[in-house]
Amino acid sequence: MFHYQADLLHCENLSVEAVARQVGTPFYCYSAEAIRTRFREYTTVFEPDNALICYAVKANSNPSVLGLLAEMGSGADVVSAGELHSALAAGIPASKIVFSGVGKTVSEMNFALERGIFQFNVESEPELERLNQLALSVGKPARVSIRVNPDIDARTHRKITTGKSENKFGIPASRAIEIYEQARQFKGIETQGISMHIGSQLTRLRPFEQAFNALAALTGQLRAAGHDIRVLDIGGGLGIDYGDGHSPPPLERYARLARQILDPLGCRLIIEPGRSLLGTAGILVTEIQYVKQGQERTFLIVDAGMNHLLRPALYDAWHDILPVRKTQGKTLEYDVVGPICETGDSFATKRRLSPMTQGDLLAVMNTGAYGAVMGSFYNSHPLAPEVLIDQGEFRIVRKRIGLAQMIAMDS
Ligand SMILES: *Cc1c(COP(=O)(O)O)cnc(C)c1O
Repeated sequence: MFHYQADLLHCENLSVEAVARQVGTPFYCYSAEAIRTRFREYTTVFEPDNALICYAVKANSNPSVLGLLAEMGSGADVVSAGELHSALAAGIPASKIVFSGVGKTVSEMNFALERGIFQFNVESEPELERLNQLALSVGKPARVSIRVNPDIDARTHRKITTGKSENKFGIPASRAIEIYEQARQFKGIETQGISMHIGSQLTRLRPFEQAFNALAALTGQLRAAGHDIRVLDIGGGLGIDYGDGHSPPPLERYARLARQILDPLGCRLIIEPGRSLLGTAGILVTEIQYVKQGQERTFLIVDAGMNHLLRPALYDAWHDILPVRKTQGKTLEYDVVGPICETGDSFATKRRLSPMTQGDLLAVMNTGAYGAVMGSFYNSHPLAPEVLIDQGEFRIVRKRIGLAQMIAMDS
């Protein structure tokens, strides 16, 4: 959906430069068509009669993005009351919402119980106890899948691996039977399945295969112990191609693997994709403020920073960077850095770009997921606005807030 026409980068059929002229920089730009196409791919490979796609809202919680996915029939995987509220407000029915996360508070649980969400993914025994008590007091049983940690190395970045025994997520598979037994004693809890999510930005199938096999084996054990397992939530985690040489398997192969192993169990499948739905559908557009000749490097100092896109600083993430208007001349080597007073505020080092000058625009690619949502006001810079391009038109879906508004939040 992002491509060049002549020398100009376009999103769908709109020139990114033309949008920038009206919106100002920095800003995030999303393609509605890219999101719809990817969602359709998901519903094709996982048939909707026995699978529910619960988009992981934390990847991009913009209400217009959620609205677009709601229209297409998506469910939601939420990790806070805020996300639950946004998902409901966007039109995603409670019957398609699962609630994940290790730290659900009393008020978050009450809100979700009141709305009657499809499922709580419970991550510990104390959480199960709390949920039971609250469910009893509102008189509505909570439907639950226990999140099991299969102790599998997802072979991804250490900060986005979640399925190893040393991670805070889920309960160890070895204790699963015991916890399902305990859940059976709780009158407020109705267990209906098992959930797993082993990490993010996985680019190999092998860890998924291990996880699906572990899920199948555990289903057998729990059923043998008399538990009714009818939902299997396989989480998200499928990677995208950031252009750094690690390309993920095609969605079709991932789905085939899941279905081969899990379909025979006759359960409803839940899939919670975040990055693989939104990641390639967005870019961050930023303007070069200075071309600074360092002693060893040439720096392009841009007006977006780690406060707008944290991934490079947090995960050493690699993002492709493209000129919004291609220039003539031999490519040069640049470091692309933000204005924040942190050495870690760097988007790229030693990148070859055609010659750039002050005022030129750059696009940081593949930032539709885990981009805007991680924004902060660090160094008292306002958040980046967000723009959604749909059928030849663009809409500002998060306004740029002024300095006065930003400052007025505090006293
Ligand atoms: C973050 C998360 C997801 C989405 O992960 P992606 O890698 O973005 O697909 C799904 N499920 C849970 C429980 C998560 O925490």
